[in-house]
Formats: sequence, structure tokens, C-alpha cells
Amino acid sequence: MSRHILITGGCGFIGANFVRFVMNHRDDWKITNLDCLSYSGNPENLADLDSDRRYTFVHGDIRNEADVNKALDGVDAVVHFAAESHVDRSILDSRPFVESNVMGTQTLLDAVRKTKPETRFVHISTDEVYGSLPLNRPDLLFSETTPIATNSPYSASKAASDMFVRAYHHTHGMDTLITRCSNNFGPYQFPEKVIPLFVTNLIEGKKVPLYGTGENVRDWLHVEDHCEAILTVLEKGKAGEVYNIGGNNERSNLELTHAILDLMGMGRDMIQPVEDRKGHDLRYAIDASKIKAELGWQPTRSAWPEALERTVRWY
Ligand code: NAD
Repeated sequence: MSRHILITGGCGFIGANFVRFVMNHRDDWKITNLDCLSYSGNPENLADLDSDRRYTFVHGDIRNEADVNKALDGVDAVVHFAAESHVDRSILDSRPFVESNVMGTQTLLDAVRKTKPETRFVHISTDEVYGSLPLNRPDLLFSETTPIATNSPYSASKAASDMFVRAYHHTHGMDTLITRCSNNFGPYQFPEKVIPLFVTNLIEGKKVPLYGTGENVRDWLHVEDHCEAILTVLEKGKAGEVYNIGGNNERSNLELTHAILDLMGMGRDMIQPVEDRKGHDLRYAIDASKIKAELGWQPTRSAWPEALERTVRWY
């Protein structure tokens, strides 16, 4: 089925990868990308697509109804990535997170409801809405029924947006779906997040700032596996459902740091321990059995350390 999808936040890390993934895997689809080009949105990420007739860029804000209506012209599905995405920034000032992640999502939902309520709406959320798991209980994983228990202002704003998406399905019968993914790695990520920050620091001969003892654990998934999961949910997902996405690839931050140092031929002396992040969640780990069993998705590009090595080389 040929589609014309609106991708919000397509100049950011995952959005840019998703635009490329769709262009490479669905020849007859059209894409409109709505992005306000905040500090993490880089138009260079997609500059080579400017001449492609299947791709249109709209420079605009999801908080602005006129921008959103313009971008919705002709589309029959929305994949919503646009958000403030960095936990550390949300600790310093949570206001932009409420404005873009909550009010922006609500503006987008209302524009779809008013103009084309049958539009499929895939909302990209995060495993961080489930809070934190203990380090000494490897048997515990986040499932779709794990209670929401947000610990950072970032995750609180994402959970609030999830609740609006859920409510618009329940109240207005909209065709909404929610995905909750673990930490992504791959090309085009803004170098404030740990992997591109550490790699670019080392390229410049600078040390890498490791929070606390580095014991915190994240479940790493290659961004293209995430993109394939989102495309699968868009095409085969059931309205109103939540799908967790993860790679069964748990690594402590210390283990990740050592792997990057080894790949770059640098010693442990390049680690600069820094004061831990306030409220730092200890462990995230995803149970992705629902999307695997019901929609047939499997990660195929996240194998460690090969996928990490490709990523390090890219930066
Ligand atoms: P990013 O910060 O790299 O990109 C965000 C993009 O959204 C940028 O291009 C930015 O310009 C745009 N944007 C921000 N506010 C906007 C607004 N008001 N109007 C229009 N555009 C706006 O983020 P990312 O890492 O690509 O994350 C994308 C989505 O995936 C987010 O919703 C995030 O919560 C979610 N997510 C990210 C990860 C991860 O590991 N990076 C994991 C799970 C879920």
C-alpha cells in the first residue's frame, strides 16, 4: 500500500534514520518532514534528499497549529518523533519538555482529529517511562503492562504525551499506537548523548566524562533495528496498542566506555569520573516479546561489538 507519511522531528537522530529507512525500503511512499531545527535537529542529516521528489521538508513547530496543518496536507499517516530528548537538559529546565513533548503532541493530535481523524498516528515514546529496574534482578524486564513510574522530567513529559495519545484513541476513536524503545545507537546522533560524545571527545584528544561508577545499565539497540520496528508497527500494529522495542543487549556504562576505548585504541586513563546525574535511573531492560510474537519483528543489526564498531567508525 502506497503511503504519504508525516514524520515529525525528521532532522534529529532517529527521525533522520527513519526518513532514510523508509526511502530505502518503500519506493512508492512519500514523506513530509516537519522539524523546527532545534539545537539537535540538523538539516545536513538529510541534505542529499532535497532533490528527491518523494521528500518534502517543512520548517515548522509541532506547537504551532498552522505549521502542523500545512505539514498534514495530503498525508495518510503520522510518525511522531519530535521532542526534547536529553535527560540532562530536562534536569536543568523542564519547561521546554512540557512545551514540545506534551503541548506539541497535543497540538498534533488535535490537528489530526479535526482535519483527518482516520489517520494512523504512531507515537515514538521511550522505555524511560517505566522508571528504573534493580541491578541485582536480571530476571526483571519492562513489559507493556509495567506501571508507568517516571523519574526524570524528560520521562515525565514523555509519559504525559503517551497518556494523551492513549486518551485520543479511547475518547475520539483515533488510530493511535505507541512504541517504547530502549537506548539507540548509530549514525547522525547529536554529540551530547554518551556514544557520539565519547567518540568525538576521544577524536579530539579529550577525556570522556563517566557518571559515578559507571554501573548504570542500558539496553542498546541499533537505530536501524528501531526504524524497522517502527515501520512494522505502522504497517501491522493494532490501534490502541503499546509495543516495547529492545535488543536484549544490556551493557553497563563502564562496559560501554571500555568497549569504545578499546575500539579507538585508547587507555583507561582517558576516563574522567564525574559527579553522578541527579536521580540517575539504574537499569533499563526491555521485554520485546510482544512485537516479536504478534508482528514478527526481530533485531538483526545490533550484534555487539560489530554494530558498535560500525558506529564508532561513522563518527
Ligand atoms: P533528537 O533530539 O536527536 O531529535 C529531536 C528532533 O525533534 C530534532 O530534529 C528537533 O529539531 C525536533 N524538534 C524538537 N522539538 C520540536 C518542535 N517543537 N517542533 C518540531 N520539531 C521539534 O532526538 P532522538 O534521539 O532522535 O529522539 C527522537 C524520539 O525518539 C524522541 O521522541 C525520543 O523521546 C524518542 N526516543 C529516543 C531514544 C534514543 O535513544 N535516542 C530512545 C527511545 C525513544
